[in-house]
Amino acid sequence: MGREPEIITSKDKMRRWSRAMRAQGKAIGLVPTMGYLHKGHLALVNEVRQHAQLIVVSIYVNPGQFSTSEDLSTYPSDFNGDLQKLMSVPGGVDVVFNPHDLYDYGSWRGTEGMEKKEDVGEVSCLEEKGGGHETWVRVEKLEKGLCGKSRPLFFRGVATVVSKLFNIVEPDVAVFGKKDYQQWRIIRRMVRDLDFAVKVIGSDIVREDDGLAMSSRNVYLSPEERQKALTINRSLSKAKHAAEEGQINCKILQDSVILAIEEAGGKVDYAEIVDQETLEAVEEIKAPVVICIAAWFGKARLIDNIEINA
Ligand code: AMP
Repeated sequence: MGREPEIITSKDKMRRWSRAMRAQGKAIGLVPTMGYLHKGHLALVNEVRQHAQLIVVSIYVNPGQFSTSEDLSTYPSDFNGDLQKLMSVPGGVDVVFNPHDLYDYGSWRGTEGMEKKEDVGEVSCLEEKGGGHETWVRVEKLEKGLCGKSRPLFFRGVATVVSKLFNIVEPDVAVFGKKDYQQWRIIRRMVRDLDFAVKVIGSDIVREDDGLAMSSRNVYLSPEERQKALTINRSLSKAKHAAEEGQINCKILQDSVILAIEEAGGKVDYAEIVDQETLEAVEEIKAPVVICIAAWFGKARLIDNIEINA
């Protein structure tokens, strides 16, 4: 086992720590997470180590990005297991920031009493329960498509919480996974538009040996659903291969992915080929694109993507 990280739960203390380290000339790297860590998260830790002397991993399940019809109260967590995993990474990490006071919740404790409601997701769990927050960051165009269509408040919540984390931790660099491709692009755009002094790095998707993209939500899959969910990555790889062989018609490629997933019993939320920078849909592949997909297998909504650098 490696060294134990310092656990910081108050934002004032976090900021004091960061400022003291920066005064010593040390560069700080941040990896924001919602916990229930897996090797995908640990790869981000290894990546950030290449760019900073000190590493902060934040673990915080953000109620601002869950609508009241989503899975906040059942989102998996295992704080002690997370600490063990972070200690097992060569070099360890310096701080685990697990804020208990990130938002002004009033008397609400963060996830309690937040059972799913049958609404269309127009209110976030934070607004439903916590009274003391009304400022939001929106990246207006990039947040609209792909996951933003079925989760209209999601990226507002993400951009806001990441802004708060950047303001509190004041990192020099932060690493995000390309698994959440739209999120990564949105954060990069936000940093550029709002002049955050943070370098944002995208880290490649980490997969299980059989190709399934690692995700905290994979625990929701039964063994049978998990097997069927392999069609996501397989159909993406097949479509990429077809594109590289000359099939540049996006509709044909998208339809092949949708068909494969539906035949396996999945329910496709979207399968779209979009420009890598703007995330706008394209009809023919002429420049670097990414095929993005979200599909339900049982209770799990899984996302995945594959870049095609034409
Ligand atoms: P989450 O805890 O799911 O909010 O994820 C925290 C960070 O880990 C985000 O930047 C994700 O994109 C990244 N991440 C999650 N799963 C993977 C994966 N399989 N490969 C690479 N990065 C990932």
